[in-house]
Amino acid sequence: MLHQSDLTVNAAGHLALDGADTVALAKKYGTPLYLLDEDMVRARMKLYVTAMAEAFPAGSRPYYASKALCCKALCAMAHEEGMGVDVVSAGELYTALAAGVPGADICFHGNAKTPEDIRYAIASGVGLIAADGQEELERIDRLAGEAGVRQQVLLRVTPGIDPHTFAAVNTGVVDVKFGVPIPTGQALAVTKAALALRNIDLAGFHCHIGSQIFDADPFRLEVDAMLSFMDAVRQETGYTARALDLGGGFAVPYEETEPAPDCAGMIRQVAARLYEQCEKYAYPAPVISMEPGRGIVAAAGITLYTVQNVKSVPGGSTFVAVDGGMTDNPRYALYSARHSAVIADRAGQAQDCRVTIAGRCCESGDLIGENVALQQPRTGDTLAVLVTGAYNYSMASNYNRVPRPPVAALRGGADRLIVRRETLADVAALDL
Ligand SMILES: *Cc1c(COP(=O)(O)O)cnc(C)c1O
Repeated sequence: MLHQSDLTVNAAGHLALDGADTVALAKKYGTPLYLLDEDMVRARMKLYVTAMAEAFPAGSRPYYASKALCCKALCAMAHEEGMGVDVVSAGELYTALAAGVPGADICFHGNAKTPEDIRYAIASGVGLIAADGQEELERIDRLAGEAGVRQQVLLRVTPGIDPHTFAAVNTGVVDVKFGVPIPTGQALAVTKAALALRNIDLAGFHCHIGSQIFDADPFRLEVDAMLSFMDAVRQETGYTARALDLGGGFAVPYEETEPAPDCAGMIRQVAARLYEQCEKYAYPAPVISMEPGRGIVAAAGITLYTVQNVKSVPGGSTFVAVDGGMTDNPRYALYSARHSAVIADRAGQAQDCRVTIAGRCCESGDLIGENVALQQPRTGDTLAVLVTGAYNYSMASNYNRVPRPPVAALRGGADRLIVRRETLADVAALDL
């Protein structure tokens, strides 16, 4: 049940995160409440930074995929721990810059960047823009020319690898909205076009094959496909890429039956394959970037709710209704993603119930989980949903005009708010 490594049961029988009593934190800040173990976040950041620096060519480093949990505090942590930051929108770019991340350490992604996005990225001096295709390259070239800069760009390509994850998050196969396919020959053609653009400095290539990757095999196939492609480009044009971004997608166990991947080991295996392939093609080893998002924050977060009522349908389900739901965690509604849960007040007791955790929205699909193991629930209990650090706060909405919960971070057991709770006035603030 407590497979999240920083969770314990304290002397009062309460669930503790990073040593802090979650029932007390729920009282202090109110619910719903996102809690984040900052010590774990920083340790995960260090792990990727160190593993990549040790395994890959000099200058290689991870970029934090800020979409997983984007706020100033997280961008600042990533910068302090030596990561770059990935953004996919003007809003994420604004947040990273406001957190003090230098433009040079930011990579701007996205498959539908507006001219305003591109102008803003160029004006902010972002180190890299990952261009999604021919039209976008031409647009970046034109806008960089207007700004009088030569913009460093990665071309996003799709190598055609299925990492065997959920179809909904699988971006590696070629018939997708992201990037330019290698297998169809388009990636080579667009690379040639990029090399002819005067205000584009093509640093290399970017690819991202999907999410929830549990071992090095998909990344190794990706390295094979990329080096083979890069060699073909070199033969055809004489161009040698100096940078290669292998994307994110390191898996996180959401349930105790899933294994925890050895990320540092995966990175070493990917590096071994990279050097092997570089030798095979006599290709100078490119600087490598990777973009973990979920792998940094997911397992460091939990969400606390207050149980509002418990209803049993005879012969049917037991519904535990909480004061949040799809507005703060849309992952079950979107992906049928499974999360474990704990009654924080009686965390040491047996989980001998099977329940449906229901949200508060007027939507029968507003569930946080079905068939979830739980202690006997009671109205007023603090219910903790585990492994919610990624794609929860960043995907939260105001549906039904529900204010978004705050985020509190724990460092050395001490708590501080890093995002305040939205007020009802905030929710109506834009109405004219
Ligand atoms: C979503 C995404 C990531 C992060 O994926 P995780 O599964 O959270 O690691 C990295 N790079 C790109 C391009 C993405 O779209």
